[in-house]
Amino acid sequence: MDDMARETILDYYRNPRNRGHLENPTVSREEKNPTCGDVIRMDLLIEDEIVKDVRFSGQGCSISQAAASMLTEMVKGKPLAEVKQISKDDILDALGLTLGPARIKCALLGLKALKVGAYGLEGWRDGQPEEEVW
Ligand code: ZN
Repeated sequence: MDDMARETILDYYRNPRNRGHLENPTVSREEKNPTCGDVIRMDLLIEDEIVKDVRFSGQGCSISQAAASMLTEMVKGKPLAEVKQISKDDILDALGLTLGPARIKCALLGLKALKVGAYGLEGWRDGQPEEEVW
């Protein structure tokens, strides 16, 4: 594992940004990754098609928690149309690591919770079969 990337991930894991719950979320969605035991819940406050506020909560490995925290920073204040464009590669770039398939599920769990919550299952997959999204 790259040292810099590792430091960044541990920092997000230990000092997570935007961790917690929203009082009155427009959307709240929890997703689980049974292979690793990760759980991520995303609370979104959406107004005028803009993500006004966002929080994540959950538990699991450092990759799942750090990636979810990074994701909240990416989407806060963004229009939903832009949020929809966030891809697997954006998350993996933010983490700065090359991950195997099992770890990719950890990294994308927050994105899945966010997209399934905001757009439904089809929006998350965007027409692709689920195995190709991971
Ligand atoms: Zn994990």
